Amino acid sequence: MWYVREVNSEADTAAFAAELAGRAGTGTVLALDGDLGAGKTRFAQAFAAALGVPGVVNSPTFTIIKEYEGGRLPFYHMDVYRLSLPEADELGLDEYFHGEGVTLVEWASLIEPLLPAERLHLLLEYTGPTSRRLRCRPVGEQYAAWCREMGLAPEEDT
Ligand code: ADP
Ligand code: MG
Repeated sequence: MWYVREVNSEADTAAFAAELAGRAGTGTVLALDGDLGAGKTRFAQAFAAALGVPGVVNSPTFTIIKEYEGGRLPFYHMDVYRLSLPEADELGLDEYFHGEGVTLVEWASLIEPLLPAERLHLLLEYTGPTSRRLRCRPVGEQYAAWCREMGLAPEEDT
């Protein structure tokens, strides 16, 4: 089941990220996908800011995983673009998924088999220079409830 929200600006993407950050708790996992430039890192930055993470959140493309303290929750930011599935499997990602904080994974579909049983998938699609379609697929009842409560539009038959 997919839900969708259309946004027209980077600020709207940030507001959506802040809504999710407000709901996030220990063990929250957000699995992000979308083409290069779709806005995964922008989303992560807004999400971190809304958690109160101080300082700059950069793309972890080269570091793979970055941990940020100082916000309402620890924030674990991953970018698995450069990893093969076996490489990712060696990283002990479960330590993060089941850790104290909240995890956001860019290019999560590349490591889908390693994701925890419950997570919220977010697919960012380019629809114009400043507009995006944010599609959500909850796995697990908690995330399904979030999507309903946030008033996202359910998509038919997907
Ligand atoms: P990704 O991590 O998916 O490769 P980035 O977040 O690094 O993408 O880049 C997204 C780019 O798109 C940024 O330059 C950002 O300013 C721009 N952008 C324009 N409109 C939006 C929007 N509505 N949401 C997110 N990013 C946007
Ligand atoms: Mg990125």
